[in-house]
Amino acid sequence: MYKIALNAGHYMNTPGKRCLKSIDPKETREWYLNDRICDKVENKLKAYTGYSLLRIDDTTGKTNVTLNDRAAKANNFGADVYVSVHHNAGINGGSGGGVMAYTYLKVSDKTKQIQKLLYDKIIEKTGLKGNRATPLTSANLAECRLTSMPAVLLECGFMDSTVDTPIILTDAFAEKTAAAICEALVQLGGLKLKETKAPADNGKLYYVQVGAYKEKANAEKMVQNLKKAGFDAVIK
Ligand SMILES: [Zn+2]
Repeated sequence: MYKIALNAGHYMNTPGKRCLKSIDPKETREWYLNDRICDKVENKLKAYTGYSLLRIDDTTGKTNVTLNDRAAKANNFGADVYVSVHHNAGINGGSGGGVMAYTYLKVSDKTKQIQKLLYDKIIEKTGLKGNRATPLTSANLAECRLTSMPAVLLECGFMDSTVDTPIILTDAFAEKTAAAICEALVQLGGLKLKETKAPADNGKLYYVQVGAYKEKANAEKMVQNLKKAGFDAVIK
């Protein structure tokens, strides 16, 4: 059983964590964008078997689960991997940007491989490569420091970039990013597609013939025998 801890960063009302008003007049909240991707990852994984998944944020967006509590939830769950979804800021209305993937400062080769796999899949599907010098990087991030399994924090584009923001606001971008994360998790956990049941017949009926007789009396006798045995029977 491959255990996945999935986190939508922040909560709905985290101060400052939103799109830049001059680009997005609605000032879409970061948590909304993070949660949208996480929900899609959860839904896409439902086609697979061999994993269990724990969302460690408050999926209603109403309360802010502290970083300590998020890490503790993932640790208690015994997660094999920790994936945190965020969106970036820091360009202040400029035109650069792109997806980034973070780990803690000092991590295993395995964690670095997971970081690269997630990043490569997202770039392959979204093309949001941007212009960061080191899109695969490390930092002293609490989420990654406090968790005891390989942990990757994804920054899925900049909320204050004239290039990224219109893209990351679209449902299509969230869809592609989620598909990429799902693919990476399927690969990492060796997850298998669930067997799908054959679709139900749309009221189609299958008739069974039990005999054909020259004498009508013999046909009637067979009908009686069949009815005695509990079957519906008719002469045609
Ligand atoms: Zn964030």
